Amino acid sequence: MFHRAEREEMRKRIKDKFTKLKVSRQRKYQLRMKRDHRCTECGEPAVQGSRCLKHLVKARERQRKKRGLKRRYYGTLSYRLQAADRKKRPAASRRPRALAA
Ligand SMILES: [Zn+2]
Repeated sequence: MFHRAEREEMRKRIKDKFTKLKVSRQRKYQLRMKRDHRCTECGEPAVQGSRCLKHLVKARERQRKKRGLKRRYYGTLSYRLQAADRKKRPAASRRPRALAA
């Protein structure tokens, strides 16, 4: 049971320090997600940094492609998390590694 004032409050738009910024709605969403330590793309809890593992990898591959990089830095966060993630899962659910080679 809500009082009238609380119901009014629920209908209001999100009001925080990002509301007045002159940036796009998407950017605000990203900033809010970052503040709450969630993935800036899907809102899942972020492992570390500002993205979930899935999007961390996606972002990495996107940047590689864009910059035409050849080397892979296996000590880097997303690779380590990926490796840990693979160990966790049963072998049956593994997908073929298109990235190797
Ligand atoms: Zn994500």
